Amino acid sequence: MIEGIDRLNEVEWEVKPGFVPEMRVPGKFFLSDSLAETLEEGAIKQLANVATLPGILKYSYGMPDIHWGYGFPIGGVAAFEMETGIISPGGVGFDINCGVRLLTTPLKKSDLGKPKRLINELFHTVPTGVGTRSEKKLSADELEDMMCEGAKWAVNMGYGTPEDLNRCEEKGFMEAADTDFVSKKARLRGMPQCGTLGSGNHFLEIQEVSEIMDPEVADKFGVSKDQICVMIHCGSRGLGHQVCTDHLKDLESATKKYHINIPDAQLACAPIKSDEGKAYFGAMAASANYAWANRQMITHMVREIFEKVYKIDYSDMKLVYDVTHNVAKYETHVVNGQKTEVCVHRKGATRAFGPGCHDIPHELSDFGQPVIIPGSMGTSSYLLKGTQTAMEKTFGSTCHGSGRIFSRSKAKKSAQGAEIKDELEKKGIFVKATSNKVIAEESPEAYKPSSEVVSVVHKAGISLEVARLEPIGVIKG
Ligand code: 5GP
Ligand code: MN
Ligand code: MN
Repeated sequence: MIEGIDRLNEVEWEVKPGFVPEMRVPGKFFLSDSLAETLEEGAIKQLANVATLPGILKYSYGMPDIHWGYGFPIGGVAAFEMETGIISPGGVGFDINCGVRLLTTPLKKSDLGKPKRLINELFHTVPTGVGTRSEKKLSADELEDMMCEGAKWAVNMGYGTPEDLNRCEEKGFMEAADTDFVSKKARLRGMPQCGTLGSGNHFLEIQEVSEIMDPEVADKFGVSKDQICVMIHCGSRGLGHQVCTDHLKDLESATKKYHINIPDAQLACAPIKSDEGKAYFGAMAASANYAWANRQMITHMVREIFEKVYKIDYSDMKLVYDVTHNVAKYETHVVNGQKTEVCVHRKGATRAFGPGCHDIPHELSDFGQPVIIPGSMGTSSYLLKGTQTAMEKTFGSTCHGSGRIFSRSKAKKSAQGAEIKDELEKKGIFVKATSNKVIAEESPEAYKPSSEVVSVVHKAGISLEVARLEPIGVIKG
């Protein structure tokens, strides 16, 4: 292991203050021996850099899917004290409220027929790829409502059911949205893209539940063995990206204005309660709402296709849950024995609130929130539950996926995309992408093994396995 890092137990490691100068707290990350072999020193340096930021509480955290990101590592969690702490777009990421949702169906694999047909239908209906446009022509007023009300707006427009809202983190919208701080450029990018999947890492996947690890909780979550499910992964498209870009510029000036010392320019930030910090938070929340509405619109398209192809009822496809994995939120946590309001940044990290916590659907309150962890187009994805241990150890957070080993540019060449597609098809996984290049960049080998990542968070107790799902058909942007 890299010098300056102590192993605490089988899966927990500590980055000692001094790893980079002026760390205010230690770093802590979660990895097994085999995952430690894939660890990038650069990502740990980023984790340590975050520990130098004003107002940081307890630790700068890295989840087992940690890898290099813009400023903060992906798979990073950091909570800041409200009065002295900062907020930073680098701690949220460019795809604000990128997230994952899981839908169940009453179908089994034998009911599906050839997955190819279903995947083709879905591919032609759900707009997919870089800069794709929606068939829905959103007016400026509608975009405004979408940014203020998120998934609720979408449901009111007929894209889904009120029950869906109950199964979204934050009920599918953040009240803090302040659209005054969303630029015209961001709006112009967002307007034609509502209800689109986007590119690359974003996907729509048909999965089969292959194993139930926690029968009682799986049943409460509405998931059973051999069931066909649909997983949707996408975010706030060009709108969120533009909001991040715009506010990074403002916060670069704010960093200087408030005399905040940062070891890396990509950590541009402002005090949480400064005008600049509040403006970013308001615009970030508006983008988060756009992303929830976006996932809700795609959910609607998926349900309509299943209704048409399999003659099932719209309401037969229930939402298990919708998690965000790129967001900053004000939450109450226990710090030094005191209930404290903090600003938690989760960047490539998922909330994993335990039993009895605020914002868990009432009927699931005794069990903890559902946590959805995608694997890759060739490996298992997982459903977990949040825990009290996560509340105590990680500000109620866990990993968000398996995490990349290779950057997109280092991943295989596009010529190999066709080969990867064939190999997956032999394993019974039908992949449809906008190009072979995307398939090559997203090959299962480009990611850490999902089973290993999930076993680390399970062993650390910061979320516990409930069910495992295998891919059958995948649409990649
Ligand atoms: P990110 O939001 O960081 O781009 O991706 C989240 C996670 O999604 C990745 O860490 C990876 O584990 C997972 N992932 C990427 N592509 C796919 C896919 O096609 N199918 C599934 N099930 N997971 C994927
Ligand atoms: Mn994303
Ligand atoms: Mn994502």
